[in-house]
Formats: sequence, structure tokens, C-alpha cells
Amino acid sequence: MLFNVQHFCLHDGPGIRTTVFLKGCGLRCLWCCNPESQEPYAQLGLDQRRCTGCGECVAACPAGAVAMNTLGKAEIDRERCTNCGKCVSACLDDALTRYGTTRTVEDVFSEVLRDKRWYCAEGGVTVSGGEPLTQARFVKRLLELSREAGIGTCIETCGAASSEALSDMLPLLDFVLFDLKHMDAQAHHQLTHRPNQVILKNARLVAQSGVPVQFRMPLIPGRNDGSENLRATAQFLRENLGTRASIELMPYHRLAAGKYEALGCDYRLKDLPAAAPECIRSAQRTLEQHGVRCAISV
Ligand code: SF4
Ligand code: SF4
Repeated sequence: MLFNVQHFCLHDGPGIRTTVFLKGCGLRCLWCCNPESQEPYAQLGLDQRRCTGCGECVAACPAGAVAMNTLGKAEIDRERCTNCGKCVSACLDDALTRYGTTRTVEDVFSEVLRDKRWYCAEGGVTVSGGEPLTQARFVKRLLELSREAGIGTCIETCGAASSEALSDMLPLLDFVLFDLKHMDAQAHHQLTHRPNQVILKNARLVAQSGVPVQFRMPLIPGRNDGSENLRATAQFLRENLGTRASIELMPYHRLAAGKYEALGCDYRLKDLPAAAPECIRSAQRTLEQHGVRCAISV
């Protein structure tokens, strides 16, 4: 169950990459910039700004889940909607999107293989999400096929997944992108709805595996950018990576607001301003003062 395959990606691992985005994630981070990735099933998105009020979707819906509101815009009854996608095909104005398609691993691999000439020495395929380890059998086979074809492999993980599945996959990986959110278990639970013990266990597993890893941290103003959490993050990285300790900060932005609206989901950080440049530089300085190289993602 995928929601996107992106080509020529420059920020999802080394070199030029094809990134396969899978649906399904055990975390519910307050700031998630891919809300369409969270559920493991297809979902319908409606961008009312694009809706011209033609009514074609009302006629196309077999579940009676679409109606026109008093402003002449389509509205979805999500209790009734079965996410079948019939309204999406009927909409000529691209106001409706079905996030999620089931595809075979061979089909996805053929799309990855078509990009092989662009990868050069460093690039390859990155499996992202959502959390790729929630569809471990699919990912493992995709990585095996990529390896056999001489294509570099990478996953982008939040670590909230089975350690056995991760261990099984590590020998097939050339690179891992691993996101850390908060070092304190209780704060982590408040921010993501899950504790962090398994995540930290998996982070150690990757750090000690010898597979090159880039740890990253979404920097969320007032949530995880305090000096105590930054100091604890630096200590964790030093303990597990020694002199190789490094992290990439991903400053919070608000670009996902429209996606929450389209999915009919509550964007719980909707009033939080984007991370200010001075706060980002301050977090970087703190991490570096504690012995960790720190880059800021663009
Ligand atoms: S996805 Fe299917 S059930 Fe849902 S609103 Fe569209 S046509 Fe109706
Ligand atoms: S088919 Fe598209 S443009 Fe027409 S009413 Fe439905 S959502 Fe709006």
C-alpha cells in the first residue's frame, strides 16, 4: 500500500534517489508533514479550493457519501465513504485525490529500475513512509531486487517497529535515515502517542550494525528544542556513534496544513509558527557544544 513514488529526490539519502512512500505508521506525531501516510489504507482527500461545484462526484459516488454544501462545494461524509476512488475519476478539476494504491513489488521495482541511469555511484532507492518496516515483507523483497540489480538501498525509518524486522533488513541496506523525536519517554508519548523505548533500542541496533546511518530530528519549537532534550540527544549519539556522532535537524514548517484539511483531519499544531532561524541556529550550537556534528536540512 503506497501513496507515492517520487523521482530524482536529492534529500532522501546519498545522491539522486527514487523514493517509495508506503502507507502506515505506528506514530502520530503532532507535526507530521505527511498525514496521508499515517493510516495503512487508502484515504480520500478533497481540496475545496479547486472544487468548481460541478456535482459530478455526487453522481459517481455509489455510497452516497458526497453532497454539495451551501457554498456550492463538494463535501465528504467520511462515515459513509469507502475510499473506492470513483469520485476521483469523475472529478475533472483535480479537487479529489485518493491517497493509497496497492501495487506488487515487481511493479514498483520496475519503476525504480527505470531510474537506474540517474543514480550514479551514490544514489539508488529509498523506502520511506509512513514507516517502511510496517510492510517489512514488501520492503525486504524490494531491497533484494534492488541489490541484485546493483541499485543502492536506503530506508527512512522512525524506528517504531519490530526489531526483528529491522535486523532482518539491515544486511540489505547501504544507508539508513533514522528519525529521533525526543529522548524523554513521557514527552515522546505526548508528542507521538507512543513511548520511545523500542525506537531507542532500534536506533542502537542500527548504530552498532556498521550500516552508515544519518540520524535526524524534526525541530519543533517549544516541543523538543529545549536544551535538556538536545543535551540528552547528543549524549545518546555520542554513546552509540562515538566520534562519528552527527545529526541533521529538520526545522518545523507548516506546509502540511492543506493536506490535513483535505483529509478532514485535525492539525493539532495549526497555530504553531514555523521554527525561527535564531532558534534553529541555537539548537545547532547546543548540539555541537555537546560533541555532535549538526547540519540543518533545507
Ligand atoms: S471514494 Fe468512493 S465512497 Fe468515497 S466519496 Fe468517493 S466515490 Fe464515494
Ligand atoms: S467533481 Fe470535483 S469539481 Fe466537481 S463537485 Fe466534485 S469535487 Fe468539486
